[in-house]
This record gives sequence, C-alpha cells and structure tokens, in this order.
Amino acid sequence: MSIFDKIKQAAKDTTGLGLNATEQYNRAYQKGVFLAPPNYKAAAEHFVKASGKFTEEGNQAMAVRANANAALYTLIVAPTPEAIDNAVKTMSQVQQLERIGSQTEMVATGPLVIELRAVQLAAQAEACSAHMEKAVGFKNASQALLKIGNAPLQLTDRLKLPGPFDKALKRAVYYQAFSDYHAGCAKLAESPQSAQDFFQSSTTRFKQAQVSDMESKVGALLQDVQFKRHCWMCGREMQGRNIYFKYYPTSTAPYHNRVVEALQQDAGMIDSPNEVTLCTVCGLAVEAQADAYAVKRMNELREELVPVINGLRNDVNNLIERVNELARMAHTHRG
Ligand SMILES: [Zn+2]
Repeated sequence: MSIFDKIKQAAKDTTGLGLNATEQYNRAYQKGVFLAPPNYKAAAEHFVKASGKFTEEGNQAMAVRANANAALYTLIVAPTPEAIDNAVKTMSQVQQLERIGSQTEMVATGPLVIELRAVQLAAQAEACSAHMEKAVGFKNASQALLKIGNAPLQLTDRLKLPGPFDKALKRAVYYQAFSDYHAGCAKLAESPQSAQDFFQSSTTRFKQAQVSDMESKVGALLQDVQFKRHCWMCGREMQGRNIYFKYYPTSTAPYHNRVVEALQQDAGMIDSPNEVTLCTVCGLAVEAQADAYAVKRMNELREELVPVINGLRNDVNNLIERVNELARMAHTHRG
C-alpha cells in the first residue's frame, strides 16, 4: 500500500467518508453494535447509509437486510409505535437477520415479526375503549404468540413492556388473562354469573403468568362478584357486592335479626353492625331523593339568608362611612 493509500485508508477509518456499502455495513458493528456500551443509535444510522449504498451498487438483497437491521436497532433505542410498525414491515422482507449484538449468528425473522405483531395487537387492544373490543384484541395478541409456542421471546424485554417476557407461551397466557378480564367486565352488565366465570379464568391465568398485582386485582373483583344478598327494601336477590348491592349505614338491633330469622329471610342483609344491604336501584333512588331534598333546602336557606346578609352589608357600609366622617372631623379640629 502506498503512503497515499495509507493516508486515504486512515481518513476513511476516522471519518467514514468514501466507504463502500460493505464497509459501511461493517462500520455499523464496529462503531455501534460492538462498542462497550453499544451505541445502537449510531449503528442504525450506519445501517441506513449502508442500505442506500447497497441500492446504488445494485445489491437489493443486502439493501433490504441493512434496512431491516436499521429498523431493529432503531426500535431498541426508542420503541415507539412507529418504530415497531417499521420493524414489522422491513423485517418481514427478509428470511434471516443477524442476532441482536452479533454479526455472524443468523436468526429467522419470522418469530421476531410474530412477537412484534403481538405487541402491536396488545397495544391496539389497550387503546380501545369498549371492554368487548379490548377482550377481542387481547385474544388476538395471545393467539398470535401461540404460533411461536414455547420459544423464548427475543425483543419484548428490550421494549420495556410490563408482563412476562421470557417465553412466548407465558406471554400468550398473560394476554389471554387480560382478554378474560375485559370479557368479564363486558358481561357484568347483563350477567354477573357469567362475568364471574371470566374473572375466575383471568385470575388463574394471571397466576400462571406470575403477574401478582393483576392476579390480586381481578381476584378482589371475583370476590365481590361472587357475593349475593337480598335487598332490605325490595327483597330481590342481587349478585355482586359494590356492583349490584351495597351496604348502607342504618341502625339495627338484635330484634331485627330475630325478625329476619322468623321470616326465614336472608340474614346476610344485616350481617354487618348498623349497616343494611340495598340493591343499587333502591339505594340510588334513596340517594337521589336525599340529594334533591338537600338542594331544595339549600335553595330555601339561600332565599332566607340573602336579604339578611344584604342588610348586614349595608349596616357595615354605613358604619364605615360614619367612622371616616369622624376621622375627618378629628383631623379638621387638630388642624
Ligand atoms: Zn332493592
């Protein structure tokens, strides 16, 4: 190598100017992926440049692969919905890609794409407002992941998402648990009994997925939805504590327990001291009426008090005027 060539080579190494496509591709590893700590942002930028150069050189296969790598490392740097979308698109165009952090070991892109599709489906489900739509969305996410069975997940942990990220199967169970939870919430309006079945299945799945906070949240809901009580006022049996019946403050004595017992009615109506169960229809009717009376009384009081307050205000103003007048007189006399 002539001295001129050596200088040129040195300049290429430091600045990256004049690199061909393959050199630019290698640079993504040397100046990005393999750094300690790795600089994936720089790697992605080099892959983008390499992709452009491969296109110029007419090597479409490598251009697409460089692009897929750029999308993959961009996703790891900032896992935005757009980055996930772009990674799904570009990675679907290649069969294999270098394993993250390696330049020699190749992995199939199929499972990576499925993993990202499941993340997208779950995010879409989360964004829905109706429980039934969420239930369907999470079920789709779960079924997408089941396609890669017991394989280890490769990207989910890097996306910093909540929930299990070791095995595809476990995360599929986690998504199904959310599906059951939302299906239960959707069913609640028509049948607490069938909601109960969904919540039961949801808690079991959250337990399998080892997500204890959701397991206890849905578990508490399951406890409430299982409870049945009669309404003290209308006598109907309702299922769902704090959902279709509530405890209201009142005053009870042992006598009331004896009355209920003699009539062979539901002793649970007064199983808490100085409280009684009312179905939410009766309870809300009482609350709404009490509220209406309170507003009426408040308006009456306002009508009574406004003239009194206005009178007082006039008296105070008169007194202030009188004081000011006295002060002026005192001032005049001193002068
Ligand atoms: Zn009632």
